[in-house]
Amino acid sequence: MTAAQQMPASEIRHDWTRQQVLDLFALPFNDLLFTAQQVHRMHFDANRVQVSTLCSIKTGACPEDCAYCPQSARYDTGLEREKLMEVEKVLEEARAAKAGGATRFCMGAAWRSPKKKDMPYVTQMVREVKALGLETCMTLGMLKDEQAAELAEAGLDYYNHNLDTSPEYYGEIITTRTYQDRLETLDRVRAAGMKVCAGGIVGMGEGEKDRAGLLMQLANLPEHPESVPINMLVKVAGTPLETEEDLDPFEFIRCIAVARIMMPKSHVRLSAGREEMSDEMQSLAFLAGANSIFYGEKLLTTANPETNEDMQLFARLGIQPEEYRQYADDAELEADLNAQVSEQQNAPYFYDAAK
Ligand code: SF4
Repeated sequence: MTAAQQMPASEIRHDWTRQQVLDLFALPFNDLLFTAQQVHRMHFDANRVQVSTLCSIKTGACPEDCAYCPQSARYDTGLEREKLMEVEKVLEEARAAKAGGATRFCMGAAWRSPKKKDMPYVTQMVREVKALGLETCMTLGMLKDEQAAELAEAGLDYYNHNLDTSPEYYGEIITTRTYQDRLETLDRVRAAGMKVCAGGIVGMGEGEKDRAGLLMQLANLPEHPESVPINMLVKVAGTPLETEEDLDPFEFIRCIAVARIMMPKSHVRLSAGREEMSDEMQSLAFLAGANSIFYGEKLLTTANPETNEDMQLFARLGIQPEEYRQYADDAELEADLNAQVSEQQNAPYFYDAAK
């Protein structure tokens, strides 16, 4: 019996050791994908993918030195800087995102952390985007306790703050904030009652042990992030990582599969780098347990979503976008997920991996 077959597939754990994670990475590819798919089907409808749209509400001129990021003021990438977007403009983009099929609207600002004067604008954005019937997510940099509380009070559903890589490799990528700073922001987001979106980037020259280290950090948080974006480095000219060697695409898929196994109930998201992936690679990522994507910004100017490449790929794979449903509490959410899974059990191709 292989290690994959022996593994208790659906356990929620927060005590992963690096060796256990490396053992998952080392499984034969087919065993790893099979295990990930088993876990996935225990908690999700395997033919649904959540769709988010990203909007940059403040672009460029960031004082941080993240080596992958074209928005850092330290690198000359030719990116046009834009100041904080007006609320009405954000709403226009949110309406277009909703019309294009997105259920979550993520607003990102290139800041080290938000300033006091910014908070009334960003909280107004949250309130008004939410009123359109979209889930809201923001990524604004490091937060203080009171800022996290203000965002939660405005109704923000998710806060994104990535760990980027393993603690050991982190210093090669960022020097202007520490790993601990990041963990503290995640703690504050949780303490304020918001959901956590946290993941990282692969292909930055790190080793497999670092990819394992990143996933170990995420899975060993007191609660798993509800959303785990796994980004493939986009090599932007002018950034220190522009000439980084390509990561083997199968290693990326392994990372998705290991994330799915370690965080069974989280949405694992294909994020940056997706536009450079073939349809076949994206399909393999869905098979490995990815169940959330960012629509490209181009969607916002596409009048007819049927012509959108993502929707065409969904149609070819028989994937439906996940609907946005509002739940009174976690019990109601759990009941709905269980209903979706049991509905799936009656499908002709259902394989009961738990037996
Ligand atoms: S903090 Fe965010 S916007 Fe600023 S350089 Fe790092 S990744 Fe880019």
